[in-house]
Amino acid sequence: MNDSDVTALAAGVQAGERRALAQAITLVESTHPHDRPRAEALLTTLMPHTGQAIRLGISGAPGVGKSTFIEALGLYLLSLGQRLAVLAVDPSSQRTGGSIMGDKTRMELLSRELAAFIRPSPSGGNLGGVASRTRESLLLCEAAGYDVVIVETVGVGQSETAVAGMVDCFLLLQLPNAGDELQALKKGVVELADLVVVNKADISPTAAALAKSQFELALHLLQPVSAHWSPPVLTCSALHQQGLTAVWDTVMRHRAAITDGGDLPAKRARQAVDWLWALVNEQLRQDFRRHPAVAEALPRISDAVTRGDLSPTVACRQLRALYRPGE
Ligand code: GDP
Repeated sequence: MNDSDVTALAAGVQAGERRALAQAITLVESTHPHDRPRAEALLTTLMPHTGQAIRLGISGAPGVGKSTFIEALGLYLLSLGQRLAVLAVDPSSQRTGGSIMGDKTRMELLSRELAAFIRPSPSGGNLGGVASRTRESLLLCEAAGYDVVIVETVGVGQSETAVAGMVDCFLLLQLPNAGDELQALKKGVVELADLVVVNKADISPTAAALAKSQFELALHLLQPVSAHWSPPVLTCSALHQQGLTAVWDTVMRHRAAITDGGDLPAKRARQAVDWLWALVNEQLRQDFRRHPAVAEALPRISDAVTRGDLSPTVACRQLRALYRPGE
């Protein structure tokens, strides 16, 4: 692919062509170093056309009903005339070789719709790398004119934090199980939520109502994330398409609250700068470890730190003394 191909690809993405978008995502997902300059040229061309979508993060444990929920919500959004893209961050896909979320039968009805674009998680690399590629794909979906971009993740590792760091509204999907709110609190994910939704309310409305009030209590104990918004708790049944209108209305209310309060541009700006520093940190760390003199001395110095013979501060100074950027 040469420069004119990149220009043509950018034009295809902007025209909303699904094949061009899929190709563009494959390019930004590529881990081949020779693809990077073209991926960056593409992103730079499309940056001015990004930022218009509603970015919604959805997280929850395997089996909570994420794909059922996203399919039902997605079909509802399509009925409102919206175009929807669904992306995923699944850090399990490179550890086990198989994705927790990625099998092909997920969201079968939604995937048949022309106004919906569904892309499984990129695989390979660490969580930071996977999340970074999903962020770039999110920008591409915006340039392609999607009104709503959903980024889905399973609650493994730090993936919730990564997804909360790239969306405007973070929705936590939960089961009506006693004690689940304590798990979520312990893991620190409730703090990230702009909205908690208790799914499978059809199984036991009483259990769902109880879980709702327990989450409300848990959220009440936490500091409000924004002066303009206190995270509400809703119940729904994704399977029976009940309660989804209320969920979407709440997402829109959240949007209005953070837009009117002026938080949205500030939030996105903060997320972009955080992303920049995460990339700089990661890149510098890699450069440092790959530097020949550092790489040569690292096992010996690291062993000395492990044995307790050398203080980490002194070890760090010794390694830094060996590091000559650009070598
Ligand atoms: P995911 O792993 O979080 O994506 O969960 P799935 O969407 O695959 O759902 C897991 C199981 O829960 C499936 O058998 C769904 O049919 C079922 N399920 C999802 N939502 C509901 C619901 O609202 N009510 C009931 N009774 N079952 C549901």
